[in-house]
Amino acid sequence: MIFEKIPINMFNNFHNIFSGSNGKTFKICRECEGACEHNKIGTLLPGEKDYMASRLGINVREFEDLYLDVLEMDDGTRIDVLKLGKLCPFLNRKTFECECREFKPILCKIYPVVFKVEGEGVNFIIDSWCQLSQKEECRNYFKNAIPLFSALPVPAEWFRYVISYDDLCFDYDQLKKHRKGTKPCEVFYLQELLDLLKDESKAESLQICSEMEIEKFMV
Ligand code: SF4
Ligand code: SF4
Repeated sequence: MIFEKIPINMFNNFHNIFSGSNGKTFKICRECEGACEHNKIGTLLPGEKDYMASRLGINVREFEDLYLDVLEMDDGTRIDVLKLGKLCPFLNRKTFECECREFKPILCKIYPVVFKVEGEGVNFIIDSWCQLSQKEECRNYFKNAIPLFSALPVPAEWFRYVISYDDLCFDYDQLKKHRKGTKPCEVFYLQELLDLLKDESKAESLQICSEMEIEKFMV
């Protein structure tokens, strides 16, 4: 399946309205030592690589080589993801700040807002695994992102694919070993990543994720 790209001006509008930080977030993320940077797969929305490449002033091919891998689903559908098995290439290794803060992937920007697909609908929830969710001020701040995100023309099918891995925790060391070569933008198959989670070393992280407390919001 090929998804229609979200227009660049919609990404611009989103970032102009929602900065992703209320002034408290960086301190909390630093104290949490960036847990999500070591466990999660970062996903780009359809058309988001075009937007981010344009913000960086490079072409999409260069952007893919520098920052992305591809996750291929069972039916051949491809999803753009931030490089796997490495710390995100946008993460400053000294300050631990995100170097694309103003135009970072929207799923990064709205986290701890995550989603669940239920029947034909998509519900947005706050992931209590994230320390930001523990502070009411931050929870309320991120709730503001839900109607904005819901307004983007993201097909339900795209959510269905992404939900199959989005709430899982991955061991980046295992992913790193799993990289087959040195290709800048590598294709991974979802099933091979899920198979990595089956061994004992993954059981603990899976359990942590499955114990997430969630809070559901009606949009
Ligand atoms: S977003 Fe949440 S999990 Fe990620 S570093 Fe910040 S507090 Fe930690
Ligand atoms: S783009 Fe920024 S927020 Fe997203 S994973 Fe990379 S460093 Fe973290």
